[in-house]
Amino acid sequence: MKKNHMHRGIVLAGMISLFLFVSGCGFMQAYQEIQFFAMDTLMQVELSGKKSDIEQIRKIVEDLEDDVSVTDVQSELYQINHRTVSAIELSKPIARLLNEELAITETTNGALNPALYPISCAWGFTTDHKRVPSAEELAALLPKTDWRQIQLSNQNLTLPDGMELDFGATAKGFASDLCADYLREQGIKHALLNFGGNTYTIGTNKKGEYWKIGIRDPWDETAQGMIGVLESTNEAVITSGSYERYFEQDGVRYHHIMDGTTGLPVRTGLVSVTIVCESGVKADGLSTALFVMGLDQASNYWRQYKGFEAIFVTEDGKQYYTEGLENRYHPTQGQKAEVIRL
Ligand code: ADP
Ligand code: MG
Repeated sequence: MKKNHMHRGIVLAGMISLFLFVSGCGFMQAYQEIQFFAMDTLMQVELSGKKSDIEQIRKIVEDLEDDVSVTDVQSELYQINHRTVSAIELSKPIARLLNEELAITETTNGALNPALYPISCAWGFTTDHKRVPSAEELAALLPKTDWRQIQLSNQNLTLPDGMELDFGATAKGFASDLCADYLREQGIKHALLNFGGNTYTIGTNKKGEYWKIGIRDPWDETAQGMIGVLESTNEAVITSGSYERYFEQDGVRYHHIMDGTTGLPVRTGLVSVTIVCESGVKADGLSTALFVMGLDQASNYWRQYKGFEAIFVTEDGKQYYTEGLENRYHPTQGQKAEVIRL
């Protein structure tokens, strides 16, 4: 699993740097780059700013990882999941993350469900022991995943017995929001955060052009192929794909995005969903939720709620993108592509 992510990160980072103009410009701040591992992912950051800025980015991500780890006994999330009382006071950042995630949980009617952790555990996605749980096992776990019973008021969280949370679907997007907040406060004009395919763009590249983000070809095992390129500024561009984490048993492939109504990996005919919008949590959360919904329901969700754009790739190899991207998304030549309209 880690290798998978590392590979993807390196290649995507490589792809993106193809588009970067990295020679120094005298009037600008120095160009800084850093790569590090956090959240099971190779994180790559490029910005024009001070060395301390890039170090701060690393610290923000590592601090968040310490808070949201499901396995580290010191983490805030571990404390939540191993609580001895039903009411807990959250730290400010975790309250913000959960609050923003729950807003998406509600509008997607639970397609994004932070309480599916027991299901992900049963499938072994949280460890290296992946397995297919029995129908009885899943049936016993599903009642523990009723997100409607999560009560959050400011920093006060109340959970029913047996419920366990996981921020796997939103933590990387949230990390990019925290970093973007910091970079804006520092007045940074050029930055690209690439958290293993979860990207966030600030300003322009050094040529003064929009950043160019390659959207990964889900069928390219080398992870180098792109189905298209998006011109991007001041926003998150985040993809969820069934090819990211999976295992095979008796010829069947089981991936890591779960349907909370059945406890099974989702099968809606999508292989990837990319969301483009200003908030990293929203882009990350919606990329998972719209994957769960499938193309038709997801298109209607976009028509109803707006405020974001999307690129969907279906199992039959076709891509569909929302009309707000028409002038800045460029499908690779030869790709079958259709625009989703209001
Ligand atoms: P990735 O971690 O590969 O970037 P996602 O952002 O799509 O992928 O998040 C998937 C992760 O979210 C899973 O590994 C699991 O921890 C959690 N998860 C799986 N299904 C759901 C769901 N329906 N709602 C919320 N979280 C989910
Ligand atoms: Mg996600």
